[in-house]
Amino acid sequence: MAINSKLPETGTTIFTVMSALANEHNAINLSQGFPNYTSSSKLNELVSNAMTNGYNQYAPMTGNLDLRLAITHKYDLLYNSTYHPENEITITAGATQAIYTIISAFIHPNDEVILFKPAYDCYEPAVKINGGIPIPLELNTPDYKVDWDQVATFITSKTKMIIINSPHNPTGTVWSKEDMLKLQELTQNTDIIVLSDEVYEHMVFDDLNHFSACFFPDLKKRSFITASFGKTLHNTGWKIGYCCAPKDLMTEFRKVHQFNVFSVNHPMQKGIADYMSDPNTYLELSAFFKQKRDLFLNLISESRFKFKPSQGTYFQVLDYSNITDEKDTEYAVRLTKENKIASIPLSVFYDNSKTDKTLRFCFAKTDETLIKAAEILCKI
Ligand code: PMP
Ligand code: GLN
Repeated sequence: MAINSKLPETGTTIFTVMSALANEHNAINLSQGFPNYTSSSKLNELVSNAMTNGYNQYAPMTGNLDLRLAITHKYDLLYNSTYHPENEITITAGATQAIYTIISAFIHPNDEVILFKPAYDCYEPAVKINGGIPIPLELNTPDYKVDWDQVATFITSKTKMIIINSPHNPTGTVWSKEDMLKLQELTQNTDIIVLSDEVYEHMVFDDLNHFSACFFPDLKKRSFITASFGKTLHNTGWKIGYCCAPKDLMTEFRKVHQFNVFSVNHPMQKGIADYMSDPNTYLELSAFFKQKRDLFLNLISESRFKFKPSQGTYFQVLDYSNITDEKDTEYAVRLTKENKIASIPLSVFYDNSKTDKTLRFCFAKTDETLIKAAEILCKI
């Protein structure tokens, strides 16, 4: 049978490939981003209570109201910005579904979508499946900063969406207030929608701040913010997230969402809502992950890998140019097979022709795992 693929050049995501290779070779898996420690027993108890208390049928299409109220409270508390639970917040099956549904709801054939490379890998296929044209702009290395003059030249009447992601996966950089103001200025008086992927909002280190799109009034008017409970609750397998946007945008989103998943896992939504009534559950995350980043970086400070400490997320990029000339995709495989440590090559987040010698390591791991991983890296 002839199959007319909608994504002829797309293979299996690097996260699946590297995790499978790590398992096959019994390697420490610092590739795919997920914690290897257990999450809160209180949270598990609250989810279990929700099941016992009958939250087992379809949740409302827009999400459990208690959870939407908890999210409204969070944005008021952290960003002094109100999203109405009734019509400006929707609970989704992870940030991935929110991202896919936002793109499906707004991108028509031949609409252009600006995104920044290296980019998280689910953006571009979603644009293409919906007939849109990705316009990839490269962040300037080694700091992974946006060239705003370049962005200005690429914004045309065809630009329908700009996708941003801070704190940034895979590089661990955090956008400044000036970056956000520049984006606000360049999109002012346009109909461009901004998809601001903020799944790592609670993981920002040192004296940096997360500048959410909702902080900037004109940006907020055109923005969807996407978030993931997989990150904030250390439970990536639960696949629950949400998105926020002004009512007019959210109304369009829900037209697609209702036929995409309709609604998501009800008892977990209720359990998460109860858990979030204590804001420390998300406010303590930066300190928690900073300790892990610092432990890992102190332990490898004498190794031959070079690095700038990650500013946010739970990823650290290491430069191996002192060690070998191999391409990152090949070196990542060899490290997994021979040295028993798995990472993610950064070139896959570009167009794969990139020759930078950089790998991404996930430090959302037990201290014991980080110590073992560092021992391996120091011997290389
Ligand atoms: N965006 C980014 C930048 C991510 O790193 C991830 C993956 N963790 C997602 C979106 C998807 O999140 P989820 O697992 O909630 O679908
Ligand atoms: N977001 C995770 C990462 O960057 C992976 C998610 C996935 O495997 N799809 O590692």
